[in-house]
Amino acid sequence: MLPIEEIRQPLRTALKSGLRRFVLEAPTGSGKSTQVPQMLVDEGLVAPNQMVVVLQPRRLAARLLARRVAQERNGKLGDEVGYQVRFDNISGPRTRIKFVTEALLLRQILEQPNLPGIGAILLDEFHERHLHGDLSLALAMRTQQTCRPDLILGVMSATLQAGPLETYLSPCARLRSGGRTHPVEIAYSKDARAVAGLPIWTQAAHHVAKLIAERPEGDVLVFMPGAYEISRTLGALREQGVERFADLRPLHGELPPDQQDAALDPGPRRKVIISTNVAETSLTIEGVRMVVDAGLARVPAYDPQRHLNTLLTQKISRASSDQRAGRAGRTAPGYALRLWGENEHWQRPEVETPEIGRLDLSETLLTLRAADLDPAALPWFEPPTPKALERAAEFLHDLGALDATGHATEDGRSMARFPLEPRFSRLLLAAARNGCVAFATKAAAVAQGRSLLLPLSDERRAEDRETKLERPGEAGLSDLFPEIRALELAEQERFDWGWCQTWGIHQQAALQASKAAVQFLRLAKSQGLPTDDPASDPATALRRSILAAFGDRVGLRMDRATLRCQLVHNRRGDLRKTCVTRKADLIVAAELEERETPHGVDLLLGMTTAIEPAWLAETFPDDVRVTSKMLLHQELRKVVNVRERWFRDLLLESKISGEPDAETAARFLVEEIVEERLQLKNWDGSVTRWIARVNLLAKVCPEHGFPAIGPDELRLIYEQLCHGKTTLKEVRESDPWPILGMFLNDFQNNELDRLAPEHWTLPNGRRSRLRYEDDGTVVLSATVQHLYDSPAKPAIADGRCALLVEILAPNQRPVQVTSDLGRFWESAYHEVKKQLKGRYPRHEWR
Ligand code: ADP
Ligand code: MG
Repeated sequence: MLPIEEIRQPLRTALKSGLRRFVLEAPTGSGKSTQVPQMLVDEGLVAPNQMVVVLQPRRLAARLLARRVAQERNGKLGDEVGYQVRFDNISGPRTRIKFVTEALLLRQILEQPNLPGIGAILLDEFHERHLHGDLSLALAMRTQQTCRPDLILGVMSATLQAGPLETYLSPCARLRSGGRTHPVEIAYSKDARAVAGLPIWTQAAHHVAKLIAERPEGDVLVFMPGAYEISRTLGALREQGVERFADLRPLHGELPPDQQDAALDPGPRRKVIISTNVAETSLTIEGVRMVVDAGLARVPAYDPQRHLNTLLTQKISRASSDQRAGRAGRTAPGYALRLWGENEHWQRPEVETPEIGRLDLSETLLTLRAADLDPAALPWFEPPTPKALERAAEFLHDLGALDATGHATEDGRSMARFPLEPRFSRLLLAAARNGCVAFATKAAAVAQGRSLLLPLSDERRAEDRETKLERPGEAGLSDLFPEIRALELAEQERFDWGWCQTWGIHQQAALQASKAAVQFLRLAKSQGLPTDDPASDPATALRRSILAAFGDRVGLRMDRATLRCQLVHNRRGDLRKTCVTRKADLIVAAELEERETPHGVDLLLGMTTAIEPAWLAETFPDDVRVTSKMLLHQELRKVVNVRERWFRDLLLESKISGEPDAETAARFLVEEIVEERLQLKNWDGSVTRWIARVNLLAKVCPEHGFPAIGPDELRLIYEQLCHGKTTLKEVRESDPWPILGMFLNDFQNNELDRLAPEHWTLPNGRRSRLRYEDDGTVVLSATVQHLYDSPAKPAIADGRCALLVEILAPNQRPVQVTSDLGRFWESAYHEVKKQLKGRYPRHEWR
């Protein structure tokens, strides 16, 4: 009997008492995935006409679990028990237990939120916290809260943080079951110097061979990140002769079903199973006593260079490696070997960050928006940050999938039907219009992965390769074209290793791109897109489609001498030196690499495609604007009208379209002067002083009627100055004095110098220039010696404005500021004199 039987009664009691949600935590192998769905059906907890849907993160697990449960119930797969994954639906009208992967459940909830025919949804392996799992849970909660109060929701995992989940699901039943586990001895491979530094599969094979030889009992489970590493490990194990002692069983999603089944089925001989992380917690394999862990996994990760979520190989967390090690202790005490050092182990993250906190959310947001749902209004377990949603919304707007109000456009709705990153659904949609879908699937495949072309040191060979990869009509137009050609040739050569070596083609990248292209094509076909490529000029058709998919990365060359580009969203960067588009003015970049420079972040543009300016308006009709404005032309040195063409915030073109009439030009120049973008040659210190002096008198001598000169009056002066002038030279060299003079009447003009003189005459006959400050103070600055015999309280404006005297030492440094010289001589002067006399004995000191 499986340990999970402990929860049969509590589960029944809870659900019979009316609770509709539960959290189940039980170790791997205890029976969650296979037994709980059966309990719900067999205990009559869901109605006889209703189905239990189990959400699995992996297709492989969905199929194998369905197969196992069908076996246990002595049924045929697809009858009572079935599964549905992308491209594969093995279920029928009688199906009561259905294992599904993410996208399918999601689609179902969005299309029919009341989920007809579904009695329970179980979210399995919830600890993995995939974006789709989080989203499905939020949507299922919403369904339950709004229209299906009877729907049963169960969240299951071996390693849950059940506390926060329980709070979120409350009211809910919390179920737990123990499991049999045996101790597992953990070792690190760091000391095995003989193999350190070799490829991970060679290391693994070496250790497996040793384990098989040294330990007489039990199977070995090897964890590798993906299909490629698994096939290399198989090769290395064969080389080590392991096959003579054990059956070698690969396990990953791309294998044919019978091989997948073989990995789980018991056989007469010992087994070495080489698996992806599907064997970490999703599937339990009987008889495993030893685990060899490469410590890596292919996980969805945000790739900022491509602004895409893609699968990247990454180091697993400590929690994951503990789960993997645990697989050795199912039946008896076990042994787990980690192919990394213990020091490094403690530097690894404790657990993975949930996808919702680290992936790009564009696809999720588009899915919701296309269903007219607001992500902010969903009952999330952990809501996405507003910032992440904003970024996603901006990107979708760039692709034309959301309108300015954030709602899905028609294109956006079509894009949402593809289970793809929006960038690629945009590409396929555009390609369908342009008649180049099959070609575009290849472009998507190479744009998604790493470059197929390795640098070749032999120059002749490099040139030959260039010729080999160049097709007529494609030269210099896109970095993707040679990549696509390399992919096609590699396929023709069946990825022959020697051929790849000769031509500098990255074999693994080619293999991956080829698989990805097949997937994209299959998907395009399943969405009913025409894949016979009727475009008469496929290269142009593809380039137009690429523009639609990379509209957030349009760049304009700033000049011909450099590789510098100005990009939309106010970014700048350089084309990579290897780009074939160096002769193009306008490009899109499928790859943007950020570089830190002393001046901030700079970009390197790769995988570029040349585009035509006219395509911008055709592809994004709302985003190309033509505006007119006036500007002071620096070379023509006059005011001109210009017409500007913009793509979003990128200035594409600026053309002189004529000259404004004299009055308009003058008004424009006035603004330039006011904003201090234009300096007048004759507007010097004496002018500003004159204004300050007039302003002072306006304040202190109101009876004379001096006009105050504020911003409005200044503008008036500038207008008169610019009147009738259109060239910069005329304005810059104009003489302000006649205009200033006209501001005052004769009396004022005559009295100005007397009442507010520019200079002050000192007792010894020297003249000192007065400083008229903005706040109305007037400063007389002079050395001590020049001030002897001055009046005690010097003043101007008929004595109405006392001067502030700045008394300087012989070295011109101020020693005192006062408006009462008389007091100074009597008090502070004595101290000043004492200090300075010693230093300046030759000066006069009274
Ligand atoms: P859990 O989901 O709790 O990890 P499962 O329901 O997947 O557990 O498995 C429960 C038990 O059923 C396992 O311990 C294993 O013994 C058995 N089992 C499950 N799937 C298979 C299979 N495909 N072949 C053989 N045994 C299986
Ligand atoms: Mg399970």
